[in-house]
Amino acid sequence: MTEDIHDLVIAGSGVAGLSAAVYAARADLDPFVLEGDEPGGQLTLTTDVENYLGFPDGVGGMDLVQRGKEQAKQFGAQFQHGRIEDAVLDEQPLELSLSTGDTIYTRSMIVATGASARWVGAENEEELMGHGLSTCATCDGAFHRGDDILVVGGGDSAMEEALFLAKFADSVTVVHRREELRASEIMADRAREHEDIQFRWNTELEAIHGSQTEGVTGATLVFHPEGYPKEKGESGIDVDRETVEVGGVFYAVGHTPNTQFLDGTGVERDESGYIFTQTDAAGRPTAQTAVDGVFAAGDVADPRYRQAITSAGTGSMAALDAEAFLETLQDEDEPTATATA
Ligand code: NAP
Repeated sequence: MTEDIHDLVIAGSGVAGLSAAVYAARADLDPFVLEGDEPGGQLTLTTDVENYLGFPDGVGGMDLVQRGKEQAKQFGAQFQHGRIEDAVLDEQPLELSLSTGDTIYTRSMIVATGASARWVGAENEEELMGHGLSTCATCDGAFHRGDDILVVGGGDSAMEEALFLAKFADSVTVVHRREELRASEIMADRAREHEDIQFRWNTELEAIHGSQTEGVTGATLVFHPEGYPKEKGESGIDVDRETVEVGGVFYAVGHTPNTQFLDGTGVERDESGYIFTQTDAAGRPTAQTAVDGVFAAGDVADPRYRQAITSAGTGSMAALDAEAFLETLQDEDEPTATATA
């Protein structure tokens, strides 16, 4: 069975997974990269990346990950499609059951499975997702030429989506549940200054109207001057309601880490599911999780920075930590030298 055991499996092929793959492949660890449901990760949903070091004119998100994949392959990384559905991590080798039906074994693993877009819980969202309701302006914006569009959220993603959608739509309205944006000043200013972008403060999306054949036709919004109107409405406080005609709704309300497959494995996570990585004896950060041989990189362990460049950085950390771990395994396997005459 030894031949069937990988040294290192990397779950995820976003910037974190690719960066880990480049480092691990250059260290001759023969990394086996599992590309999940969103190959290339969140950057594939972004248009221009202007803050990744080394690209003064910006670089397309898809272009950046494709280059990363080529770079990893060039050093020998292997790629396979498949999502981990179940993992047994309490003994060597680690056992991973994939969505493809395969079971694979590995001595170490880097979890770089990223985070997926959140939904807001509006009425009809399940039915209309992909039919005028979307979590990705870059993917679906072009279907909405001449439409009036709502973007839900108040962070950088919402600003970015609104700015992108304003290229196609007649009007874009950002619906935010509070009065202050969470977005960075520069992104907020760009959106505020755009003539086709409006804001509705202290407002939430309660229901989306339409059907799978005709798409989105409207939305019901709730408003309360003190913010969080849905919560207020549900607790019996009076809120204002208005139904507006729109041709599309885009969610930009953050992400949930893809770590459900780690349930019961001993990998420690916070209440949202983000993995905790450990510090070393001197208190410095590492990519090690609470389980030996399991490392984490990128957004899956980072609710705070969530940048492409920090993901690339933690990807390289995870590969270096996995390399050191594999060396300790090798040392344990080697027979202890005994003195002979
Ligand atoms: P985020 O910063 O967590 O913002 C999520 C927004 O959605 C918040 O305004 C939040 O409202 C709102 N929200 C959350 N749940 C909601 C719900 N159920 N109903 C209504 N509204 C809800 O997420 P993000 O915008 O995706 O950004 C994530 C990270 O990526 C950030 O660090 C950001 O800076 C970074 N990013 C950077 C760029 C860039 O630099 N180009 C682009 C995109 C993202 P509250 O404010 O009330 O909590």
